[in-house]
Amino acid sequence: MAPPQWQKGTVVDIIQETWNTRRYFIRVEDSEKFDFVAGQFVTLDLPIGERPAQRWRSYSIANNPGDSNVIELLVALLEGGAGTTYLFSEVKVGSQLSLRGPHGFFTLPETLDTDLFLICTGAGLAPFRSMIQDVRQAQKPHQNIYLIYGCRTQRDLLYYDELSQLDEEMEKFSFIPTLSREQWDGRTGYVHPVYEEICDTKASQSGDTPKPALFYLCGWKFMINDAYKNLTDRGYDKKSIKFELYG
Ligand SMILES: Cc1cc2nc3c(=O)[nH]c(=O)nc-3n(C[C@H](O)[C@H](O)[C@H](O)COP(=O)(O)OP(=O)(O)OC[C@H]3O[C@@H](n4cnc5c(N)ncnc54)[C@H](O)[C@@H]3O)c2cc1C
Repeated sequence: MAPPQWQKGTVVDIIQETWNTRRYFIRVEDSEKFDFVAGQFVTLDLPIGERPAQRWRSYSIANNPGDSNVIELLVALLEGGAGTTYLFSEVKVGSQLSLRGPHGFFTLPETLDTDLFLICTGAGLAPFRSMIQDVRQAQKPHQNIYLIYGCRTQRDLLYYDELSQLDEEMEKFSFIPTLSREQWDGRTGYVHPVYEEICDTKASQSGDTPKPALFYLCGWKFMINDAYKNLTDRGYDKKSIKFELYG
């Protein structure tokens, strides 16, 4: 299959989600509907270098698929980062961007017949927000879904009100944010003890064998490496673990 072509996008809205993270809403001009599967990403070609490798940056699509040609990207500003500095300082409502996609295989199976663990830090929440909204809006049958999301402090929390409300409204969906650098009335610490406790409790209920589950990991490499090791050490099959590495 030919790779997707570069398309023109117009920034139609920007929401400052937290102190260092923005939601960019981009209308893809050449199509009436932008077809993608929850969990996929697009590549932006930013005017920040000569060679493609210098210019291209990938961003997960944070909204769920629908009938629209507007996609939402959740972008965290990286201090000294060429792409995010450009996006934060130069790109305004009305700006044109060149983008290509959708790309990627970090998507859910057709049938959600085992427990699903979505584990992320920071902007790694983006593809999971798309997946959860997709499951909810398409009313897909599912087993337990645990969205385990790590960030440093309360001021870093992304989509917090929306996901907390879904936690209340959606059956068998648990949103578990955990803060690594601040005490609050929710969980504290890294993401790892959160899924380890749930997995270990379930395993102890079934004769100390891991209960079948699917694991999706998204974010920066240290969290993903640690989670991958913890899960395989616990006896989960490598095939049950998928990840999207942001860098
Ligand atoms: C498939 C995919 C999807 C992605 N989706 C998103 C998304 O939805 N939202 C998002 O904000 N980013 C996402 N990223 C990351 C994004 O593509 C950029 O890498 C990121 O925005 C930094 O770009 P930059 O040009 O500002 O930094 P660069 O100038 O490219 O970065 C400089 C260096 O810092 C390292 N680095 C960057 N960030 C961190 C960090 N947080 N911790 C440690 N080292 C770091 C990089 O590896 C690089 O070596 C995704 C990446 C991939 C591969």
